[in-house]
Amino acid sequence: MIIQLNALLAHLEQRSHEKIDVEPSVVLKDVDSFSIDSLEIGPTWHRLTDIVAVVFDLKSSTNLEKGRSPEGTASIYDAGIGGVVRTLNDFGARFVDIQGDGGFGLFWGPGAYLQAMCAAITIRTFSYEFEAILKDKWANAPSTGFKVGLSSGPVMVKRVGLERHMDMQEPVWVGRPVNYATKAAQQTEPYFIYVTGSIWDVIAENDYLAYSCGCDGGLPKSSPPSFLWHNVELQKIPDAQRYGLALGSSWCQRHGEEFCNLILSGASRRTDIPIEARQKRESLKHGLNMDSAFAERRVEREARFAELREMRKAAQR
Ligand SMILES: [Zn+2]
Repeated sequence: MIIQLNALLAHLEQRSHEKIDVEPSVVLKDVDSFSIDSLEIGPTWHRLTDIVAVVFDLKSSTNLEKGRSPEGTASIYDAGIGGVVRTLNDFGARFVDIQGDGGFGLFWGPGAYLQAMCAAITIRTFSYEFEAILKDKWANAPSTGFKVGLSSGPVMVKRVGLERHMDMQEPVWVGRPVNYATKAAQQTEPYFIYVTGSIWDVIAENDYLAYSCGCDGGLPKSSPPSFLWHNVELQKIPDAQRYGLALGSSWCQRHGEEFCNLILSGASRRTDIPIEARQKRESLKHGLNMDSAFAERRVEREARFAELREMRKAAQR
């Protein structure tokens, strides 16, 4: 192989000069009607006002390989990553991408936040099962599981690749949701799902997501429902989204399916939540500089939703 290095570098420089002066057209797309299949390769970018990213990352993946045959390692990936992909698909992810020992699912349109949260809790629930199965087979397997982070916001998307090679054309997603969800996933452990402020601001009022069912490990209801979340500062995120929230629970064996389907159907209000638990949710707003963080996030979110409303109006004209 011979590379005409100087010619390539000259071409890249020339191309950058040309591209930087041509601003590509960016078309605002309604998230409720946008479909990935409508993306054609070409100069146009599509801008979506609001998508939800669920990022997952297999913990200790390099240690899982250590001392194992290639077949053993492959079976770990098939069992683990395959299970997560299945979950994202079943909950309606509109796009799933795997990169090595992690990946992400993207949700948009009606119900996207709820679908993404239910998928994340399912991945966390599966994570324990997966680790247990692994330890059954290899007693010395390191502690593992899936680290999960969520974020949301506007993105730009376009299919990028070589024009005559359909199999080499991939949608690229430019924007903060995947990036911030990745930072959240990196910081957490399989025990906690970390979400950025933009997620919490949408789901906070959902009692089925905010509070426990009130039973203990599948036993009949034994205690009053409790608040399940706490504040967490997401270190690598530079704006108000850094004031995130952590959820440390998985689906209850007894009530999980019922809760999951209630959430997906849009139910959000429960009558069995004690006042102390509701006060805990309110008190979240006052920890970790949350007063200003909530205000900042609200401004950002209002701008995003105002743009979404404008876009829908324009589409109806
Ligand atoms: Zn329960």
